[in-house]
Amino acid sequence: MALRNIRINGDEILRKKSKEVTKIDDRIKTLLDDMVDTMYDADGVGLAAPQIGILKRLVVIDVGDDNVYKMINPKIIKTSGKQVDKEGCLSVPDIKGIVKRPKNVIVVYTDENGDEKTLDAEDSLARCVCHELDHLDGILFIDKMHKE
Ligand code: ZN
Repeated sequence: MALRNIRINGDEILRKKSKEVTKIDDRIKTLLDDMVDTMYDADGVGLAAPQIGILKRLVVIDVGDDNVYKMINPKIIKTSGKQVDKEGCLSVPDIKGIVKRPKNVIVVYTDENGDEKTLDAEDSLARCVCHELDHLDGILFIDKMHKE
């Protein structure tokens, strides 16, 4: 287990677009495990690779539904409905804001074994998927936050 440093808003790496992972090797698997450890250590529900300074399309999520999702090259293929709720980010400490997100998303990704997965996510899981995938394109929730 290894903890990685979480990059904080203002770090330009958080604004860059991440690259597709072309090969799932031990380095990628270790990286995903480190991301999970780092997420739990920081009491987060999700973490994207750019948040630890790595521009690869990797995301980990655990919103407390007894699943730890390790997603490689995730892509949202369908969204529906909407939800409006408060959101925060490990890279933007001390700020919480209202963000509108889809209520449901369908996301396809490759898992750490190389298997193609489809996840039908709703509510907090859908919110988390949207938030983490935004990180892969250099987008932070504060960009979408309702200004009060
Ligand atoms: Zn975030």
